[in-house]
Amino acid sequence: MREDSRNAVARVDQDRLWRRHTEMARIGAIPGNGVNRAALSKEDIASRRLLLTWARARGFEVFADPIGNLFVRRPGVEADAPPVMTGSHMDSQPRGGRFDGIYGVLAGLEALEAIDESGVQTRRAIEVVAWTNEEGGRFQPCTMGSAVYAGARGLDEFLGVRDNDGVALGDALQETLAATPEARPRAFGTPAAAYVEVHIEQGPLLEKAGKPIGVVTGIQGQRWFNVEVSGRTDHAGTTPVGLRRDAVRDAIAIINALQDLTRDPDDVTRFTVGRMLVTPNSPNSVASHVLFSVDVRHPEPATIKRLGDAVPELARRAAAHCDVKVLPTLVHDPCLFDSGVMDAIERAANDLRLPNMRLPSGAGHDAMYMARICPAAMIFVPCENGISHNEAENAKPEDLAAGARVLAAALLELANS
Ligand SMILES: [Zn+2]
Repeated sequence: MREDSRNAVARVDQDRLWRRHTEMARIGAIPGNGVNRAALSKEDIASRRLLLTWARARGFEVFADPIGNLFVRRPGVEADAPPVMTGSHMDSQPRGGRFDGIYGVLAGLEALEAIDESGVQTRRAIEVVAWTNEEGGRFQPCTMGSAVYAGARGLDEFLGVRDNDGVALGDALQETLAATPEARPRAFGTPAAAYVEVHIEQGPLLEKAGKPIGVVTGIQGQRWFNVEVSGRTDHAGTTPVGLRRDAVRDAIAIINALQDLTRDPDDVTRFTVGRMLVTPNSPNSVASHVLFSVDVRHPEPATIKRLGDAVPELARRAAAHCDVKVLPTLVHDPCLFDSGVMDAIERAANDLRLPNMRLPSGAGHDAMYMARICPAAMIFVPCENGISHNEAENAKPEDLAAGARVLAAALLELANS
């Protein structure tokens, strides 16, 4: 690592970073140490205002694009060179934790401040971005801000999306943008030279391995389906079993068949039925309908395609008595991160003598959209017992600081290349 990079990394301040997590966690605090900061809510606005206060105190430039993605920029020597970007999201799940997403924004700001305090100049600008609506808890789908930024979806598709109270996203967005007038408007399509996102792992692997840094190799692919099983409702006491068209019995047979399909001794394949609606849902009646969700995930493109493609036919064959409809509801191809950015992260961790390992991400992140438009990768740090999307989510101040140091070093390397 260069001498000036080493000086900058030494300025990463563990206490300041931890204090800011504590301050952010007060916004939308819920019992059990969690937070509820829905996208484009008054809590989201408060967290944006706090971020801007910190950014402006340091004299950084701030911008917002039309979907409310917020950018904090430290200029580089070459004004026209595409910036290196880092960041994550500030919204949370309704019963979310204090670190999911917000850590990536605060670590980015910490890295930027450390770099600024050391006085080091970079060829490219470095930008910290807070993406709008990553979680999708209030407005669906998730990862909206990065999807629109990367050109994968259009803003117009989302303006009319309504939350459970009937509020349109377009109205909530306008209110949010009006609350941060110091963020200068910026159009979509600003090119980026590279993107590095830091995030808590939201799984147990780093903690189990005793390593503070994960170099993330990619994000696993997902295939989602709704399976609808239709039979006939009958009296639970009087109807002979052999004459029934029992939707629950067939649903169980389908789920067993899908469990056989996705059985994996290495525990890489993830199969989940997380939602099930039974009609009429009465103990005294044979069920006429069952609707359930299927979620299959795997990091290898060929494997997720094979598994996902097999679901509809297998489900239909497994049902002995009922009609079965299988509706695909989501296809996310696996995302493979850039080897150059992964190498820069790994070099930074090794130079700082921080034990590290490569691992894929089980969850989706904004980085999967950035990976479509520029070289991208992620840094993970451990979280307690792998727990996330839960009030009990927790991480150690020293691990959070280690992630910010690796981030600062990687950003400096990328901003000078
Ligand atoms: Zn997140």
